[in-house]
Amino acid sequence: MNNMQGLRCGLGYDVHALVEGRKLILGGVDIPHTKGLLGHSDADVLAHAISDALLGAARAGDIGKLFPDTDPAYAGADSLKLLEAVAAHVRALGFEILDVDSVVAAQAPKLSPHRDQMRENLAAAMGISVENVGVKATTTERLGFEGREEGISATATCLLCRCR
Ligand code: MG
Repeated sequence: MNNMQGLRCGLGYDVHALVEGRKLILGGVDIPHTKGLLGHSDADVLAHAISDALLGAARAGDIGKLFPDTDPAYAGADSLKLLEAVAAHVRALGFEILDVDSVVAAQAPKLSPHRDQMRENLAAAMGISVENVGVKATTTERLGFEGREEGISATATCLLCRCR
């Protein structure tokens, strides 16, 4: 890499409420659970946090601006498709996606069995290697809204480069 000045870091954070009668979709994986995340789209909190990290690094707003939750076009939307669109958008602005890391805070269910599938789905949506996508999971020791199983949060970072 010959242009370190083209490097940008991004940070994304998202929360969705856990409710009965919804699917739990994380990183594009439909995870069996008694509750799911509430939202206008499929409420994939991990895909949303990563999308915002990418947009943050590109200084291109956030997903609320790109895909308003008042727009019926995004009702029930597959958030991997939104992430794919975000990746295309940041590329169109001249950025290459170098690396992404993330952490999901959920008291339950256990997410580690799904980690590799999430990484594969997210990497494919962004058009990058699975080696460049990190997904971690943590409980919050029963503290806070995640610990009370009222919701799930996700935080993501990314590194972009405008090398052209
Ligand atoms: Mg969201």
